[in-house]
Amino acid sequence: MARGRGEMDTWQVATPGPLDDNPLRPVRVRVPEPESDEVLVHVSACGVCRTDLHVVMGDLARHRSPIIPGHEIVGRVVDRGASAHRFEVGERVGIAWLRHTCGVCRFCRTERENLCVDPRFTGWDDDGGYAEYATVPEAYAYRLPDAFDDVTAAPLLCAGIIGFRALERAELPDGGRLGIYGFGGSAHLAAQIALRRGAVVHVFTRSVAAQRLALDVGCATAGAATAAPPEPLDAAILFAPVGDLVPVAMEALQRGGTLAIAGIHLSDIPSLNYQTHLFEERQVRSVTANTRADGERFLAEAAAGRIHVQTSLYRPDQADVALADLWNDRVDGAAVLVHEQSDLFRGAVTSDRLWRLPG
Ligand SMILES: [Zn+2]
Ligand SMILES: [Zn+2]
Repeated sequence: MARGRGEMDTWQVATPGPLDDNPLRPVRVRVPEPESDEVLVHVSACGVCRTDLHVVMGDLARHRSPIIPGHEIVGRVVDRGASAHRFEVGERVGIAWLRHTCGVCRFCRTERENLCVDPRFTGWDDDGGYAEYATVPEAYAYRLPDAFDDVTAAPLLCAGIIGFRALERAELPDGGRLGIYGFGGSAHLAAQIALRRGAVVHVFTRSVAAQRLALDVGCATAGAATAAPPEPLDAAILFAPVGDLVPVAMEALQRGGTLAIAGIHLSDIPSLNYQTHLFEERQVRSVTANTRADGERFLAEAAAGRIHVQTSLYRPDQADVALADLWNDRVDGAAVLVHEQSDLFRGAVTSDRLWRLPG
């Protein structure tokens, strides 16, 4: 164990609130020491997820303060706790949202650890990846497929995995028609998994850039957020954190169809009309985190399908800019904070145009 590694640059939230109040602040803190079952990871890339916005703005209850957000972390193991042997020093790993479950509750014992009654989450209960280093219990880290470099692997770790679980929860029949409401980091990955499985995908989003991305990855149509679908939907996924879209999506469903709500936070849902929105066995379901098995299955399917990961890159010192862009719907695909040690730079000439803010 290396002691006294020194300090690192991070972003912390002490008092969540509106972005105008700058709740996310740059701070130097000590590099964490891994616990016995943990690895210490030198961060190469960290995705910026909408859940980070909810943590920073206080939409989610405060679990720890101050907290370093970020739960789509790619990096290399630089140190291991005394009982951590799963990964070698130097090995690339991913750190995701779920980082601990109790292992003994009725949910953990029935392959539903995403519903564990005593879970811990990266960047909410424990410090995350808006930092140079991060720790994780080794049992919750992921090996990452070589098909993805550090930057494209980062958004897979939450946006990808949660989108995958949402798609599973939507119970789309083979060759079925899927509606996707909101088309950001998570949706564009889930759409490609669905397309790979033979689905016809219709996208509803207010962002013209997102509509273009949807068509680029192979979706059949892309229109306004509240538009009626060109054909009845067998299943739908709501990625936009907008409760007003629940009745819109329910009305678009074919009889027997399912709407899965992917977000951890949603504005209030207006009242539903039983005949219009629910009768004929339409159903609405939420999605809560994911199991590690979901993560492994998604990473394997994403690698096999060589899915395209659309990223907007930011320097590590631009986390506040990235969050503001996400809040204002200015991010194309998934926002990622990229460190110098990322393999993006290995042998590659970097171009200013890669960056949101050159210089
Ligand atoms: Zn449990
Ligand atoms: Zn996330």
